[in-house]
Parts: sequence; C-alpha cells; structure tokens
Amino acid sequence: MASPEIETLASALARLPGLGPRSARRAVLWLVKHRQTGLAQLVEALQVVERRLVECSICGNVDTTDPCSICADPRRDAKAICVVEDVADLWALDRAKLFSGTFHVLGGRLSALDGVRPEDLTIDRLLARVEAGGVDEVVLAMNATLEGQTTAHYLAERLDRFPVRITQLAHGLPVGGELDYLDEGTLAQALRARRPLA
Ligand SMILES: [Zn+2]
Repeated sequence: MASPEIETLASALARLPGLGPRSARRAVLWLVKHRQTGLAQLVEALQVVERRLVECSICGNVDTTDPCSICADPRRDAKAICVVEDVADLWALDRAKLFSGTFHVLGGRLSALDGVRPEDLTIDRLLARVEAGGVDEVVLAMNATLEGQTTAHYLAERLDRFPVRITQLAHGLPVGGELDYLDEGTLAQALRARRPLA
C-alpha cells in the first residue's frame, strides 16, 4: 500500500489515454526510481506546457505560441489549407511531413447523434480565412467515417462560392494491407477511387 500522495499520482496518470491503473502504477514506480533524471524533467516539462499552452487564433492548433509555430513559419505555403477534425489529426499529418501548407482545426465533426452543429465548429473562421484571399486550395482531411464525410460535403458546399480548389484525401487500401483483411467500406472506397494503370 503506497502513500495517499503516490496513489493520487497513480490515479491521475491512469486517466491518460492508453494508460490503465496497472501501467500508471508502473510509471509511478519508474518515476520514483528516476527521481533526478525522469521525475524532475517531467515536472518541469509539465509546468512549462501548463504555463504556456495556448490555442492558435488562426488555425486552432495547440502550441506554446500564438500564432502557432506552423502558422508563423514563413516556409509554409499559406496558399494551401488542410482542414482536419482535431489537433491530433493535425499532429499526425504534420509528423508525416508530407504537407507543406497550413492547417485548420475544426474542433470536431458534424454529428446529428451528438448534437454537433456547424456553429459548434470553427467553420466561420475557416471561411473567413478563405475569404481574406491568398488561398487557392483547401484539402478536406476528414476521417473516413460517415460523420467525417458528411462534414466534408457540408464544407465543400460552403466553400463553393470561393475561387479555390477543393480536394479530399483519397481513401483506400492501407500500405501493406491485404485485401481479405479489409472491411467492405475500405474495399468499396478503393474500388471507387480506382485509376488507370500508368
Ligand atoms: Zn496556427
């Protein structure tokens, strides 16, 4: 039986995604053993983030500066905006280093079931960015779910009045994926998006 303070730490850690009570206790033990190198460093990193965390007023990314490091980067192509549902999607795409433009975080997706309406998302802010000019492509990078696709169609309609190219992520076979492991939705998408063999 550990002290109440250690138990409090363990239960705080257990609330993190991907960490259950067991791994949380293991993490606490590791921190106790690595007081100087691990614990002190973690406390400092948490404090810095807690003090400086802000939401970017342009794209909705979470960073320690506003505008965020992506919006403020002059090497980024401001003519292309990639629209994502959540910050996690932005980070995933940015980690892959495949997109050199800027981003826009919607803050969710339209959902009749969860009562998420267009005004609950940052759609007006996106339209204002496009309306301000200097944008020639909007990439709709929604998830390949029914709600994600509904959101993409809605956005495409709202963006229709602007002279911008609207593109969408292709959905299809994952790299290394074998056909008989795929669900029917993925297979159907891949078949619909088929292209001539070069
Ligand atoms: Zn930003």
